[in-house]
Amino acid sequence: MPFSLTAVKIGVATRPARPRRISILGATGSIGESTLDLIGRDPPAYRVVALTGGQNVARLAELAILHRAELAVIADPSRYADLHTALAGTGIEAGAGHEALLDAASRPADWVMAAIVGAAGLKPTLQAVRQGTSTALANKECLVSAGAIFMAEVARANTILLPVDSEHSAAMQIMAGAPKERIERICLTASGGPFRGWSREQMAEARPEQALNHPNWSMGPKVTIDSATLMNKGLELLEAHHLFSLAPSQLDVITHPQSIVHCLVYLSDGAVLAQMSCPDMRTPIAYSLAWPERMHVPTKRLDLAEIGALTFEAPDMERFPALRVAKEVLAAGGSAGTVLNAANEVAVEAFLAKRIGFLAIAALVETALEKSDDLAKLSPQNVDDVLAIDSETRLRATALLGRFA
Ligand code: NDP
Repeated sequence: MPFSLTAVKIGVATRPARPRRISILGATGSIGESTLDLIGRDPPAYRVVALTGGQNVARLAELAILHRAELAVIADPSRYADLHTALAGTGIEAGAGHEALLDAASRPADWVMAAIVGAAGLKPTLQAVRQGTSTALANKECLVSAGAIFMAEVARANTILLPVDSEHSAAMQIMAGAPKERIERICLTASGGPFRGWSREQMAEARPEQALNHPNWSMGPKVTIDSATLMNKGLELLEAHHLFSLAPSQLDVITHPQSIVHCLVYLSDGAVLAQMSCPDMRTPIAYSLAWPERMHVPTKRLDLAEIGALTFEAPDMERFPALRVAKEVLAAGGSAGTVLNAANEVAVEAFLAKRIGFLAIAALVETALEKSDDLAKLSPQNVDDVLAIDSETRLRATALLGRFA
């Protein structure tokens, strides 16, 4: 039977005969730490193979020692000596640089968490997919940037891809109980971020520390800024399009400030199925870790009486144009997603470095898209072609920064 995200029977997690071998790409980040929190609660059940980080040597070494990893890899090659020193005498192998990241992703494992942020995660994640390792995908940029190529690799390797984004995890959980041909559309919920009630004039003055202050979720800086602009929800539409093979017309977004309902699935008999939980990423991570079973997770339990009301509203695409831009990219197809993602990464980094204002993020991305029509029309044949488009877009977007400063 061909791989299907929805054709799955769910059971209760039982202790496997041997510890499950797991690796975490992006272990030092928010998703990486939450994953290790779950794994650390039942050490005999897991064997940690490889942990990777980007820059944070001290935390990577700490985590590798705490979880008795076989290998720790830091992406920045200039930090190898520090990592080597920090791990001296522990028996943990140290590595650094791009090839070492690919090696970490290639080490035989039963399950890998792909939680590097941005297009930097594309090659390591694909490397894990190619080994046939069940892959929990937090790195949405992989699918935004290289969706068709990525999903073709998943099919070729006949591996399992488990979405970690709470909305896509929710969709997968709901769709497991409904035939695909009876799904009319799915609607992802958006919290609205910290500026949901702000005017454009107020947002023009927004500082990074305000944008990083998400009302419901504790996440890494890039995804938190994406949530504030609503670009995150746009990226998630592209992610859902590739993950579930749904047409753009079947995908929608609704603002739901409480972040309790994560996704709504509309069926052809008029029923609408929703998945709910308190906003804690350990729930969707646990779903991907225990899949196709269920495990115990010590999160706050949902008390609807305590919350009182769940509210919903249409997203305001005039105040938050990033969502409109991403929807246009979804409709355009081709390599527009690669351009969108790369330009957005440049813009978010520039905002965090206080080189551009908050409203300039979406404006810069839109301008970069207008100026990259030639790139967006290209048909990449492989991941190197995608990364070439990504690099060229970054050059063009960086050249635009002065105009938006
Ligand atoms: P963080 O910024 O907290 O962590 C990112 C991880 O990637 C860190 O381990 C970081 O290392 C590493 N990293 C950064 N740059 C590179 C690089 N060039 N090469 C290799 N590794 C690198 O991000 P999050 O954990 O928040 O997010 C990770 C992914 O999951 C993102 O794609 C995000 O959109 C997605 N996601 C996150 C959610 C969340 O709740 N956090 C929710 C849903 C999706 P270091 O810190 O050592 O530099």
